[in-house]
Amino acid sequence: MVFISSILITPQKNLLEQNKMINKIEHLGIAVKNIESSIDLYEKLFQTKCYKVEEVASEGVKTAFFKVGESKIELLEATNPESPIAKFLDKKGAGFHHVAFETSDIDAEIKRLLSEGFELIHYTPKDGADNKRIAFLHPKAVDGLLVELCQEKSA
Ligand code: ZN
Repeated sequence: MVFISSILITPQKNLLEQNKMINKIEHLGIAVKNIESSIDLYEKLFQTKCYKVEEVASEGVKTAFFKVGESKIELLEATNPESPIAKFLDKKGAGFHHVAFETSDIDAEIKRLLSEGFELIHYTPKDGADNKRIAFLHPKAVDGLLVELCQEKSA
């Protein structure tokens, strides 16, 4: 009896896992006012050095990345007043900004989410920091949560 039900359940579960396109949380994004002083602060907090500082001109942000065990944290500072981060800081102040999910096929994932009725900020992936192709969903679409999809660019 137990043996038979496990045979019936296992293939269904595998099918679901195969079709899943969001693999894991890739990083959490934190909006900061002054990235230099926040790097110092987070280096103390994590007892680890920031491993990359990178400007993404198209988004008007300067980013800094930390590895904390298997997790990553991205700090974001605005580089101009029109930057989405400048607008976020004006409205909400510094703090948690977005969660980034890793996907193995960002183009297919965007298509899937559109077909499910999600509103996106980027309908085609763009170049992001840390060697990624990225796209943001509209926070309205996810109960106020700002979600980034990202896929590692092939070398
Ligand atoms: Zn991010």
